[in-house]
Amino acid sequence: MPDNNSQGVTLGAKKRGAAVSPLRRITPDQIDAKFMEEVSKMPGGDKIHACFQCGVCTGSCPIAFAMDYAPRQISEMIHIGLKDAVLSSATIWLCSTCYICYERCPQGVKLTDVFNAIKNKAVQDGYSVPPVYEKMSKQLLKNGFVYDMEITNEDREALDLPKVEDVKPEILAEELKDTLIYDLIGEKKEKKKHEEA
Ligand code: SF4
Ligand code: SF4
Repeated sequence: MPDNNSQGVTLGAKKRGAAVSPLRRITPDQIDAKFMEEVSKMPGGDKIHACFQCGVCTGSCPIAFAMDYAPRQISEMIHIGLKDAVLSSATIWLCSTCYICYERCPQGVKLTDVFNAIKNKAVQDGYSVPPVYEKMSKQLLKNGFVYDMEITNEDREALDLPKVEDVKPEILAEELKDTLIYDLIGEKKEKKKHEEA
């Protein structure tokens, strides 16, 4: 739990795995009073107000050791209104969407879905995204897979596996045009220009 004092809130946001756990001083200018309401309207955010900071999510999370803020802390930061810190947190991108926190939360808080919604918000608002997501997105638009297919159809045939059909990039582009994937790879403007030409 955080320590509180009259100068502000000291949040126990430690860099996991670091030898020293730096504490973070919260000042009023960091607080967006409407953030909690904004999150509560995001897909899966309807129960976020019910979090009572029990920490079951953090205790259950297999990735918490690597996160900059543990799942409970992200919920706490949402309640406080630390919008910028939440949107720039590595935690939302490290979450493996295993849904354990979602299933175990005694208050029905859907943290996994909240993290997904916050990822979308981070992309929309231009926050930096781990390069691997950009790479996977480009790969997805290229051939329909988020990773390079190392097994060829000849290999598959030798293994008695069915052939994988080629996916046409223009079909993928059409299917994904209304998603944030072009924002993610920084090609939205270029795509719009192409459509207008
Ligand atoms: S398990 Fe649920 S109620 Fe407990 S800290 Fe996590 S989100 Fe909050
Ligand atoms: S869904 Fe994400 S935050 Fe929740 S337990 Fe799994 S890895 Fe952790």
